[in-house]
Amino acid sequence: MSIKVINDKCTGCRLCLKACPVNAIEVKGKLAVILPNCNLCGACVEACKFNAIIITKEEKKVKEGYKGVWVFAEKKGDILHDVGIELLSCGRDIADKLGVELVSVLLGDDHTEDNAQTLIQHGADRVFVIKDPKLNKSEIGLATKAFADLIEKEKPEVILLGATSLGRSLAPRLAGRLNTGLTADCTELDVDVDKRLLLQTRPAFGGNIMATIITPAMRPQMATVRPKVMRKPPLVQTRKGEVITIRPNITGQDQLTRILDVIREEKDVVDLQEADIIVSGGRGIGKKENFSLIQELAKALGGAVGASRATVDAGWIPSYHQVGQTGKTVQPKLYIACGISGAIQHQVGMRSSDIIVAINKDPNAPIFDIATYGVVGDLFEIIPALIKQLGK
Ligand code: FAD
Repeated sequence: MSIKVINDKCTGCRLCLKACPVNAIEVKGKLAVILPNCNLCGACVEACKFNAIIITKEEKKVKEGYKGVWVFAEKKGDILHDVGIELLSCGRDIADKLGVELVSVLLGDDHTEDNAQTLIQHGADRVFVIKDPKLNKSEIGLATKAFADLIEKEKPEVILLGATSLGRSLAPRLAGRLNTGLTADCTELDVDVDKRLLLQTRPAFGGNIMATIITPAMRPQMATVRPKVMRKPPLVQTRKGEVITIRPNITGQDQLTRILDVIREEKDVVDLQEADIIVSGGRGIGKKENFSLIQELAKALGGAVGASRATVDAGWIPSYHQVGQTGKTVQPKLYIACGISGAIQHQVGMRSSDIIVAINKDPNAPIFDIATYGVVGDLFEIIPALIKQLGK
């Protein structure tokens, strides 16, 4: 952007001087002069009654020659991480709208054939296997170099990654190396077909608004999405696709860390993201001790216990139970929200659940806007009655 005073129109009236919040204008003789500390805020343009100041936006040229939608197929041990499959659903939609191929990218040299076929059966047209045993542990330096080299060669226009520990480490490194933009933790993805722009929607300003972010000129357009935000596309066993093996040019110099051992998380920690049924408690339960009621209902249903942030912040339950923007994103078959108001930050973590049951004494609670079934009433009456019925 650049700013300019049109000398023929400027009268030296000093209105712009008063409007400028950073003292970046002075009047010399009868002409306004813009100083180097101008931050192009445009306040002077608005203040000038004579249209004597203009700001011009130089349109950046869109990087050309980029085509195709890529999804990073992360692995969890030997098998595919669900998020790489979930992303194939919106990836397929975007690729179809743009009229391009949907490509999955796998790293490593173990189980690659089986995994590549699974990706094809879930919608990928093509799978690039970047094959090298050094990539089996997804060491970040090696993974970045191998993936970035392939991107620079093949030039995809869109790349989607899961917002997992690995994805959150890999995506910004790739974006930095490729000098492009990245939107993290998107909750929705779509595409403006005419402009070929990826519309990357995510909560912003503390979750108070949903912002749709674009990458106007740089390519590829990159986004991460948390696990369980998108639904897995169906598996079609007869689907055929192409598997292409790439031999990466990676050496010890590309390695940044040494992975000594991989230690699995202890399973007494609830795996909310795997649970089919979740019963969540909110501030409406009143106190820490009352979580036993939520636990009892969860047990009766064979489900896991979730929580709103208000209860975690109050110290009523450990943070790994938290569902929402700063907690986990879940997609169970049944989500029962007890005494939870349904703030947007909670909703973004659970609104893709198949069935949502809300128990709340306030009929205007926002949770009812997304609930499949709403029970308006006191949870201390409703939950015991439910447990009793389930016992029968
Ligand atoms: P409240 O909003 O206080 O709601 C309590 C509800 O209980 C009320 O609707 C009330 O009617 C009902 N109730 C009370 N007594 C009873 C009763 N006896 N029977 C039935 N109903 C009853 N929140 C999250 O949950 N997850 C997040 O990840 C998260 N991330 C955040 C990130 C940011 C940046 C910010 C700013 C906020 C975040 N929040 C998050 C907080 C969020 O905005 C809300 O404050 C929070 O979700 C409210 O929790 P709650 O619904 O339990 O409490």
